[in-house]
Amino acid sequence: MKVVFACPQCQAPGAARIETPSVWRCRHCQQELSLPAAEPSLPCCLICGNRELYKKKDFPHGWGMAILVAACAASFYTYLWYNKWLTWAILIGTAMFDGLLYLWVGDAIVCYRCQAHYKGFRATAAHQPFALTVGERYRQERLRREQFKAGKP
Ligand SMILES: [Zn+2]
Ligand SMILES: [Zn+2]
Repeated sequence: MKVVFACPQCQAPGAARIETPSVWRCRHCQQELSLPAAEPSLPCCLICGNRELYKKKDFPHGWGMAILVAACAASFYTYLWYNKWLTWAILIGTAMFDGLLYLWVGDAIVCYRCQAHYKGFRATAAHQPFALTVGERYRQERLRREQFKAGKP
């Protein structure tokens, strides 16, 4: 079990294992953060304490796209060579491969507020896919916070 997050103080990226309680120290600003051991059901975010979390596929961004682009390029050439069956085989094979990859990768659980990513957890009923209305609420909150920070001398 692992959490990837931005340092609450300086936003530098950080990561920590959370099987047991630990103290994380930011390499950038030396800020310390004591992290409790994570419960397997992950009822709230360990970084900011927020109780609203969503689940998403822990899928490296761009991978699916890269595979698709490669398949399109390959099928374009086979199409040029009038090899209809090979073209279909490539396209269908890619679609199946993408589907398998999607099933194979696990869920990541993400905090709406601080965007911490939790890996190695089983999503529960409390973790629903990203909801736009909830996400928007937190986006507004973030904007207000940034404005407030910027307004301070
Ligand atoms: Zn920091
Ligand atoms: Zn959080």
